[in-house]
Amino acid sequence: MTKEAMYQSMGISPEVLRFGERIEASLEARFRKIDERMEYNQLKVLHAMQEKHVAMEHMGESTGYGYNDDGRDTLEEVYAAAFHTEAALVRPQITCGTHALALALFSNLRPGDELLYISGKPYDTLEEVIGIRPSMGSLKEYQISYDQVDLLPDGGFDFEGIRKAIKPNTRIVGIQRSKGYQTRKTLSVDQIGEAIAFVKSIHKDLIVMVDNCYGEFVETKEPSDVGADMTVGSLIKNPGGGLAPIGGYIAGTKKCIENAACRLTSPGLGKEVGATLGVNRSFYQGFFLAPVVTANALKGAILAANLYETLGFPVVPDGRESRHDIIQAVTLGTPEGVIAFCKGIQAAAPVDSYVTPEPWAMPGYDSDVIMAAGAFIQGSSIELSADGPIKPPYAVYFQGGLTYPHAKLGILMSLQKLKEAGLVTIPEP
Ligand SMILES: *Cc1c(COP(=O)(O)O)cnc(C)c1O
Repeated sequence: MTKEAMYQSMGISPEVLRFGERIEASLEARFRKIDERMEYNQLKVLHAMQEKHVAMEHMGESTGYGYNDDGRDTLEEVYAAAFHTEAALVRPQITCGTHALALALFSNLRPGDELLYISGKPYDTLEEVIGIRPSMGSLKEYQISYDQVDLLPDGGFDFEGIRKAIKPNTRIVGIQRSKGYQTRKTLSVDQIGEAIAFVKSIHKDLIVMVDNCYGEFVETKEPSDVGADMTVGSLIKNPGGGLAPIGGYIAGTKKCIENAACRLTSPGLGKEVGATLGVNRSFYQGFFLAPVVTANALKGAILAANLYETLGFPVVPDGRESRHDIIQAVTLGTPEGVIAFCKGIQAAAPVDSYVTPEPWAMPGYDSDVIMAAGAFIQGSSIELSADGPIKPPYAVYFQGGLTYPHAKLGILMSLQKLKEAGLVTIPEP
């Protein structure tokens, strides 16, 4: 069977395939640049693993207290080496990205301190951590106050605003690298570095925490390379490489990491306890694969941006912009468009490809939301996934893809479904 026939047998019409591959062919130079970064990042991870003498015995498991779990301790050294930090906390007991961020904040703030976000409104789930939306157990309940400086209309930092907002009790300055599900631009590591230098010039003891979710291995530098005291993320996104079944990480200064460990476990116990229950191998192997997996996801995002842009749909980032995270927003403009797109992503999945996603009222959202995910790990967004709230402007957020051919199939399938619903006409070459 030819490749074309294979696509056709999976439901992709020759017209959709031809159009998709015409767009793909125009992206060669772009993809080559991604490959170069991927190569550098692969070397970075390998170098860290070799330097820390990762060995077969580190792949084992520990139970109970997890005393002397060398696999766990060495993995944390590998993360610290790759992120160029003094220390790291990388644990299955960190349940998700939100938990990792909450842990970094709760452990390094004390009553009376203030948290200042300088990249505008943080990711939705952080609102309840901080207490922006009243919530049980929030920082606010512990007398930790919050302030925020929005980004400027051009997406850059508001340096004057930041200077004014830093108070004597400001303790942590928060920066979110990725746009998350907002329409602003994602911040580059260089931009983050400038902001950190500025903040430290005002008060060198301020702790800077960067929410690095979706940003790992997109560039050759990480926020930790430009002065962040804590760089924080989720292992079911980029650095888990699709293999980590759970987990989060914080890479940073010894002091910040010790604080975090004493809160994750307990004062006095810190990093010494915490059984790994058999996840070590997947954490190591996932981190090893992460630069390649992230590059695949990036190529998928760039293909989606260029394909939908050519068809006249607004896309963020646009087809040519430089990338600082793996999320792609596509504004379809109608509820039917959002639904058709998500049905395509679902139909292309390795798991649950036969189910049909439907819009649903989800807790925490003010409209119905449709989600497409056929992942090996529940909720993993480094695997190909898409979701869209059913409200104007009817945009979908698309991310992930462990392999590029899978991301490509998902994108072609989304277009196929839009075409079958009569929502798009494919231009002749
Ligand atoms: C995903 C994400 C989070 C939260 O991570 P969860 O694992 O969903 O809890 C926080 N910040 C940003 C920017 C994210 O993309």
